[in-house]
Amino acid sequence: MASVSFDQLDGHIWMNGEFIAWRDAKVHVLTHGLHYASAVFEGERAYGGEIFKLTEHTERLQESARILGFEIPYSVAEIDAACQNLLVMQGFEDAYVRPIAWRGSEMMGVSAQKNKINLAIAIWQWPSYFDPEERLRGLRLDMAEYRRPDPMTAPSRSKAAGLYMICTLSKHAAEAKGYADALMLDWRGRVAEATGANVFFVKDGVLHTPVPDCFLDGITRRTVIDLARKRGIEIVERSIQPEEMADFEQCFLTGTAAEVAPVSEIGPYRFEVGEIARVLMNDYADAVRPLRAEAAE
Ligand code: PMP
Repeated sequence: MASVSFDQLDGHIWMNGEFIAWRDAKVHVLTHGLHYASAVFEGERAYGGEIFKLTEHTERLQESARILGFEIPYSVAEIDAACQNLLVMQGFEDAYVRPIAWRGSEMMGVSAQKNKINLAIAIWQWPSYFDPEERLRGLRLDMAEYRRPDPMTAPSRSKAAGLYMICTLSKHAAEAKGYADALMLDWRGRVAEATGANVFFVKDGVLHTPVPDCFLDGITRRTVIDLARKRGIEIVERSIQPEEMADFEQCFLTGTAAEVAPVSEIGPYRFEVGEIARVLMNDYADAVRPLRAEAAE
């Protein structure tokens, strides 16, 4: 995408029940969501005019809000319809969909009992999260300094804006050293996830992935686990120590934006862009575009 600032694009944004001009979708500077991170969001992708697993994303959005103590004043069906109608209005076949809900301006302090709950949806074109060539060679990841917090410290099952503070810090630190992303450990020092994607490893034909007990159980993660099972690939969800990465042969990330992205290195550890990563990358590409997969059969 051109380097036009996101607030300067054209088209429409759905905001609190209405389609409004893109550039008019503004919030006041005194907004609770901005000052106290009382905001939750989703990241979805549309392929060939269909938003992949839309209802699952919408349900997660509602649940993220509930975890933060607020109720989004629209039903799952209403939010699904708003996303779909906006996709048509924007005229995109392939696009990224970003719903966000936040507490408004009625009270400005830690307490925000009376604040209006707002919901907006924006849709834009976002071809690839990682550089396509780098992705085929395998991404290079640094080890992040920050760790995914203990669920006793932060509401880690919510896709809450505040949880991304350490992700942006970690990603910036990695990018400053020439890496594409960073791998975060969890509060116990176990392998957790990347800054916006889950992680899988391969050893002796078996997939290993951390148990999502203090980070997002990604919708892509669950999709890839299903795809692997369909292929008869054994999958083990368990706690993974960082030193174990020395013995893993392949590694890849999964996420709505990242899709399935092979990894060639994480800190001192090296991986090959191997067969299982490639097979699941293709299976995922077929799963998100069922019509394309059928045509190829
Ligand atoms: N972890 C984090 C921190 C993320 O931001 C994302 C992207 N939403 C994921 C994991 C993957 O989630 P999903 O597959 O549902 O996009």
